[in-house]
Amino acid sequence: MSTIYLDNNATTRIAPEVLEEMMPYLTDLYGNPSSMHTFGGQLHRKVEQARGKVASLLGAEPEEIIFTSCGTESDNAAIMSAVESHSRKKHVITTRVEHPAVLNFCKHLARKGYRVTFVPVNHLGQLDLDFLFKSADDDTAVVSIMFANNETGVIFPVAEIAERLKERDILFHTDAVQAAGKLSIDLKSLPVDMISISGHKLHAPKGIGVLYVRKGTRFSPFVIGGHQERGRRAGTENVASIIGLGKACELADKFLHEEATYLKTLSDRLETALLSCCPDTRINGDVENRLPNTTNISFEYVEGEAILLRLNEFGICASSGSACTSGSLEPSHVLRAMGIPYTAVHGSIRFSLSRFTTNQEIDTVIQVMPGIIKELRELSPFGREKFFCPPD
Ligand code: PLP
Repeated sequence: MSTIYLDNNATTRIAPEVLEEMMPYLTDLYGNPSSMHTFGGQLHRKVEQARGKVASLLGAEPEEIIFTSCGTESDNAAIMSAVESHSRKKHVITTRVEHPAVLNFCKHLARKGYRVTFVPVNHLGQLDLDFLFKSADDDTAVVSIMFANNETGVIFPVAEIAERLKERDILFHTDAVQAAGKLSIDLKSLPVDMISISGHKLHAPKGIGVLYVRKGTRFSPFVIGGHQERGRRAGTENVASIIGLGKACELADKFLHEEATYLKTLSDRLETALLSCCPDTRINGDVENRLPNTTNISFEYVEGEAILLRLNEFGICASSGSACTSGSLEPSHVLRAMGIPYTAVHGSIRFSLSRFTTNQEIDTVIQVMPGIIKELRELSPFGREKFFCPPD
C-alpha cells in the first residue's frame, strides 16, 4: 500500500534536488568550515552561498541570517534575546494560538515573573488587533505573533502589525515556520525585526532552522560557545543541512507562485468534495486568508483520532490538532481559542498538502472519507449525543 502523505505542516519530504546537493557533504566533504586547512575551510564558502539563498527567499541580507537547529530554537532565541537585551522591560505579547515553541516559552517567562499578554482570536481565528495594540506599552520588550497558523493555516496581518509596532519602536518577532516557502515574504518592505523558519517544513531536512535578525537589532545569543554565526549562535555548523536548506529556499523562491496556485486548487477541491459528501462538517478558520496548502475540517460527532486510525488503514496520513500535542487527548488549544464547540474540536482533521501531493491522491481521500465518517457515526452507541461536552 502506498502512502498518501497529507501531513506536510508536521514535516515534509526532502526534495530530491535538496538531497542531491547535500550528499557530498554527508560523505566525502565532511570537514569543519572553521578549520584552517583547505579541506574544511572550503566548506565555509558553501555555507555562505546557502546563507545567500536563504536571504534571497526572505528579501534579507545574508549577514541577517543565523542558522539554528530548528524552528523551536529560533523562536526561543528570538524572544530570549529580546527580553535580555531590553532587561528593564518586563512585558511580552503573544497570541493564544501560537505553536508551543512560542506559547510555552512565553509561559516559562511568565513563571519567571514576566507579564505576558496572550492576544485572543475570534471564531475565524482572526487576531483581535485592538486588543493587541492596546496591550502594548512602554514596558513591552517584544511582540511575537506567528505569520500563519500551523493548525488552521490562517494568515495574520503581519505587515500591518509590523508597521504599527515600528511606529511605537516595539520589537516584533514573527514565527514564519509555516509561511516560509508558501507565502511571499519580502523583508525589504516588511519591517519585522526577527523571523523564525524551519528547514523541514519546506522540503529541507529536520534539524536545521533559521533566525533572521534585522541589521541594527540588539541581539543576545541563546546558544553560547564558539564564534560560529558571527558569535550569534555557537556550535559547529550543520553543513550538509545548511546546504540543503539553501537549495530548498532556492526552489521555493523559484516556484512559490506556481506552487501556491497548484496547492490551492487541490485543497479547494478536497474541501469542497468533503463538505458536500459528508454531512455535519465545517471548515475551521478564515477561508479568505489561509495558507494555500492547509485545510482544517471538523467532522462533528466523530472522534478525530478514530478518523486518523481509519485513514491510516488506507495509508492516508493526516493530523488532528498539531503533531506536538497529538498523543494526548487534549483538544487543540487553537480551535478552543477560536471558540469552536467541543463536538467539532474533537472531530477536527488537518490536511496539509505539498508540491508532491497528486490529484489522484486527493481523489482517493475524497473516495474513502464519506464511508469512514458514516461508519464511525453508526458505530457510536450514543449517536450524536455521545460526547461529554464541558460548558464552553
Ligand atoms: N512554529 C510553528 C508554527 C510550527 O508549525 C512548528 C512545527 O510544527 C514550529 C514552530 C517548530 O519547528 P521545529 O519543528 O523546527 O522545531
